[in-house]
Amino acid sequence: MLDTTTRNIKYLPGVGEQRATLLNRELNIHSLYDLLYYFPYKYIDRSRVFKVAELGGHLQHVQLVGEIRSFEEMGEGASRRLVGHFTDGTAFVDLVWFRGIKFVKNKLQLNKKYVVFGKPSMFNGRVNIAHPDVDDASMLQLNEMGLQPYYNTTEKMKRSGLNSNAMFKLVQNLFQLLDGKLPETLSQELITKHGLMPLDEALRVIHFPKNNKELQAAQYRLKFEELFYIQLNILHYSRDRQKRYVGHRFSKVGDMFNRFYHENLPFELTGAQKRVIKEIRHDVNGNSQMNRLLQGDVGSGKTLVALLSMLLAKDNGYQACMLVPTEILAEQHCATLKRMLGSLPVRVELLTGSTKQKERNVIFQDLESGAIDILVGTHAILEDNVVFCNLGFVVIDEQHRFGVVQRAKMWAKNNIPPHVLVMTATPIPRTLAMTLYGDLDVSVIDELPPGRKPITTTHIFRNRTDSLYTFIRRQIDEGRQAYVVYPLIKENEKLDLKNLEDGYNQLCNIFCDYRLSKLHGKMKPKEKDEEMRRFASGETQILVSTTVIEVGVDVPNASVMVIENAERFGLSQLHQLRGRVGRGASQSYCVLVTEYKISEDTRKRMEIMTGTNDGFEIAEADLKLRGPGDMEGTQQSGIAFDLKIANLARDEQLLQYVREVARTIVDGDSECSNPANRILWERLRTIKNMRNRNWGAIS
Ligand code: ADP
Ligand code: MG
Repeated sequence: MLDTTTRNIKYLPGVGEQRATLLNRELNIHSLYDLLYYFPYKYIDRSRVFKVAELGGHLQHVQLVGEIRSFEEMGEGASRRLVGHFTDGTAFVDLVWFRGIKFVKNKLQLNKKYVVFGKPSMFNGRVNIAHPDVDDASMLQLNEMGLQPYYNTTEKMKRSGLNSNAMFKLVQNLFQLLDGKLPETLSQELITKHGLMPLDEALRVIHFPKNNKELQAAQYRLKFEELFYIQLNILHYSRDRQKRYVGHRFSKVGDMFNRFYHENLPFELTGAQKRVIKEIRHDVNGNSQMNRLLQGDVGSGKTLVALLSMLLAKDNGYQACMLVPTEILAEQHCATLKRMLGSLPVRVELLTGSTKQKERNVIFQDLESGAIDILVGTHAILEDNVVFCNLGFVVIDEQHRFGVVQRAKMWAKNNIPPHVLVMTATPIPRTLAMTLYGDLDVSVIDELPPGRKPITTTHIFRNRTDSLYTFIRRQIDEGRQAYVVYPLIKENEKLDLKNLEDGYNQLCNIFCDYRLSKLHGKMKPKEKDEEMRRFASGETQILVSTTVIEVGVDVPNASVMVIENAERFGLSQLHQLRGRVGRGASQSYCVLVTEYKISEDTRKRMEIMTGTNDGFEIAEADLKLRGPGDMEGTQQSGIAFDLKIANLARDEQLLQYVREVARTIVDGDSECSNPANRILWERLRTIKNMRNRNWGAIS
């Protein structure tokens, strides 16, 4: 049987070197397999023939059968065009060509029966169809054509004649070559049990569907398979890891945990916090290494859960560390932990890129000797020279800045990998979580500490800022504080910093009787610290900053968040920023400022932000607006996100379903030795190999 995965596309009849290069470069199609799995993005029903008399400008594509009675050349320059007066006896319609006039005139004959296909529109009160497809009626079997597939192609391809139609012809050639011989990729058991269409049929139907019913069955089969192998991969990997490593067992709840819980806690834990701590305790008291994702919206109190877990490690004779994405956050966490721990004999230290060599040496020494209990820090912790005495628990805060690679680096910090708790406040849609972090168990804090009032969010245009300043003044006079945030985009850092400076100066003038802080990533760590400290302690009332405050920063007295140029932020970023307020008991406000003229997309984002405070709802909306490929974290995830047919925004139910199917298989076949599943494990290997393929070696 022909192995489509290794057969170069250039040998397909109708392709050749030149087109092959285009297909490689433009669509990443290298092999026959790639073309086989290049699915149409839409289908149009060609079994229906319209009457010309039915046409109006509101219709999508239509198909007509009739004759051209006469040609007429009209207009000058850019509006020069060829018009063919076409009729089927019920009425006339104008077929219009702006390009290739000579070619069309030569090719098409008057009074000959044609099938015309295109999108009607109205022009000067007349219906016309621009650049229609015109085929000889005797060549087409309309009742057999069913749905016509449309393939995405690029401008470059179209210029070389590789349009949707040409792609369709190539796919036809491919099927002729294959002659129906395509190996199945799912086990017979799965196909029967879940009523799936066999692969060869599904691939044929996806390219040449006769009707909607069979198309849907084919789509279901292919989506099922695509999602199934992603889940099989993740679950198999996580099972494998569990088998290989035993975990550190934290069997007791000791002094530090208990004393902290009963003496130091300034408030009652929320029900959700209690539940999550229970889940963690259960994990770390088991036989295997914990890998848990803790999702909780901004302000839900994840830090406390982290601290209690780290105390559990200490009670059992282990060290713990907490990895965070920015220095500001590391410093703040370190200070928070120390403050909360008070006089408890737990030593917490900070390690970041700007820790002085002298302090560094002391930290290294005390880490290795075991004198440090908890290390808080940035990427600096990942480096090889950071050696622990007995690391048992790792917290990774705000995960979306860290990938699988970083997680693995932390595992390597002890012979037996430490337990890992990944915390994220960027809510991840469930489907994405199952795919990105599918190897992690998930805990959710779905409850905010009591007394929080929902943040009121408004969207205003730049020209309305006067009333905004009055409002901020009133808040400050009531003893509150405000953030004003400017965007900072890497590509244009200089301009953005200027925006920040200008904004800062302007605000200094407007609020000349108040004290302002300024904060951005280019400042020295010492200065940043000092500014942050001044704001946190209430010395300054307004903090003007770039997005360096995006994650984690906690100043409960701040009640206003103004986001300038809000159009330049994504939804999850806006939500993160908004989460910097509403952390105390007072009513908080978020004001999104944009230009007057905004795009449709921006308008939607502003609507979503003013409409809901629910991070999960926002994450779902974000996924729908942007698609998974652009979501934070997917890039470094190492999982292929070029899904060919499944859609994480739409196929949640199916994903959930196949995850269970995959789990049953992984659970029931831990040695991958059940003959009924052989095809599945082989296919999984093939998929992984294809991802690492080298096209230089292809023939
Ligand atoms: P996040 O989940 O965003 O990291 P934090 O851990 O920073 O949230 O907590 C936000 C604020 O809520 C902090 O000021 C923290 O002290 C406070 N907090 C946490 N848990 C509770 C609780 N159970 N009751 C009251 N306040 C709490
Ligand atoms: Mg936090």
